[in-house]
Amino acid sequence: MYGQMMQMPLLISSLIVHAERHHPEREVVSRRVEGDIHRTTYKQLAQRARQVAQALAALDVKPGDRVATLAWNGYRHMELYFGVSGSGAVLHTLNPRLHPDQVVYIADHAEDQVLCFDMSFWPLIQAVAGRTRTIRHWVAMTDRAHMPPPDQAAKVPGLLCYEDLLALQNGRYEWPSFDENTASSLCYTSGTTGNPKGVLYSHRSTMLHTFAAALPDCLGVGATDAVLPVVPMFHVNAWGLIYLAPMVGAKLVLPGAGLDGKSLYELLEGEGVTVSAGVPTVWQGLLAYVDAGGLKFSTMRKSAIGGSACPPAMIKKFLDQYDVHVIHAWGMTEMSPIGTAAAFKAQHIEQSPEQRLAVMATQGRAVYGVDMKIVDPNGADLPWDGQASGDLHVRGPWIIERYFKGEGGDPLQNGWFPTGDVARITPEGYMAITDRSKDVIKSGGEWIGSIDLENIAMAHPAVAMAACIAAKHPKWDERPLLVVMKKPGVEVTREDILAFFEGKIAKWWTPDDVVFVDSIPLGATGKMQKIKLREQFKAYKLPTA
Ligand code: AMP
Repeated sequence: MYGQMMQMPLLISSLIVHAERHHPEREVVSRRVEGDIHRTTYKQLAQRARQVAQALAALDVKPGDRVATLAWNGYRHMELYFGVSGSGAVLHTLNPRLHPDQVVYIADHAEDQVLCFDMSFWPLIQAVAGRTRTIRHWVAMTDRAHMPPPDQAAKVPGLLCYEDLLALQNGRYEWPSFDENTASSLCYTSGTTGNPKGVLYSHRSTMLHTFAAALPDCLGVGATDAVLPVVPMFHVNAWGLIYLAPMVGAKLVLPGAGLDGKSLYELLEGEGVTVSAGVPTVWQGLLAYVDAGGLKFSTMRKSAIGGSACPPAMIKKFLDQYDVHVIHAWGMTEMSPIGTAAAFKAQHIEQSPEQRLAVMATQGRAVYGVDMKIVDPNGADLPWDGQASGDLHVRGPWIIERYFKGEGGDPLQNGWFPTGDVARITPEGYMAITDRSKDVIKSGGEWIGSIDLENIAMAHPAVAMAACIAAKHPKWDERPLLVVMKKPGVEVTREDILAFFEGKIAKWWTPDDVVFVDSIPLGATGKMQKIKLREQFKAYKLPTA
């Protein structure tokens, strides 16, 4: 017997329809690439998203066609989020930090028809325009006054002006209804090996993820909040915040290209931001700026940090010095992205600050909808005892089933997605990532988790950033080598750093050596590129060898 409730598909367009009706005057504030601060409302944004849908139809974009973006976080990008997906086309968010060759590969693989870009990426557009196979229109997301000069524009055939396209449309448009399993957006994984692979989200998976992300123990955002996603809209849909904010009626503050400490701080304070979200490396820049100026956060109460491990020292600093609660979260492109968030349970409320910090430092517990387990190399379940560590597998309605165009074959193992992360899980269900499986240091047949070592090093006052990699060892196969980037103007020795590990971990986990570098390479999404460090230090001779 079937239930007798209405069959209404879960569609992304419903979010902006809801926001227009129930939160019409709530603001969306953007730092524009043109340099100024732009203010709009959900009412105006909904109107312009409909104009986008009409403009796409005028460009002969059909349902299922891919419309790519190369853009920062801003209101025009948001209009495309709703205008493209809402009309039944697929929004393909390209990562502008990739090499032009990779952009060409991905755009061809996705068979993008239209590419919309912020003018800050004009040099990249010129580098790729003649080389892609399927793009018919290149849309500069700006007004006529800021379009490239005619001699440059002539080099990109099919160049159009976003504001001109919208001006031709009246916004009288009904969002179409279709199967909620229809593809809505496409994002390619950063892929440290092999070609990038596409993850194709559906309206249904996006909507379910948005509901879950809004839960109090996840990102926990409501109508009284002002949210600033530092995490880019080109990296897994800004962790769903672009959908979440209109769902709950939160104010949205979009930082554009201004990701330095000063620009972010000005927006956080000037716009009364209560919740922010980003990767640890961005917060480092912000905290350095706030520390140097003796500043405070007057409205920010919560900061979601993920994408790579948030060092406990950062969580503690946010809390003790700035009264900002960190939600440490974990996920991946293949998971839309949220999998876990480190929110307390009732038993933690009365615990000591140290015990609570230990909970916050984990990657958190599964958000409803995500099922997880750890397994040994034979695929057998490992216990949740906080000790055993193994390959982390997940499943759920917003987790990938297969990559776009079947790339890489069937990724699942017995219906579970192997994340490539290695983790432990406590009896209370808190998961702690110890490594990416390819970064694990295998010493004498035992595993050493590089993230644990990095977290300790990052708590040293002289350390700006630390990466732990495996170095070859004649007796133990591999031993940990700590690569350290110092804070500017401070002196610290190898011995100081090694002494800092004493008493904090098993002695045999202590790195065998420390090397100081001027900078640690970061990838297109702000993660440390250990693969490059391993390459750089592949011939390194440890003093213990
Ligand atoms: P991406 O698909 O580019 O977002 O990368 C996903 C990967 O980032 C995960 O598989 C993890 O290895 C890493 N990651 C994400 N969040 C965290 C976190 N909170 N702690 C440690 N690693 C993380």
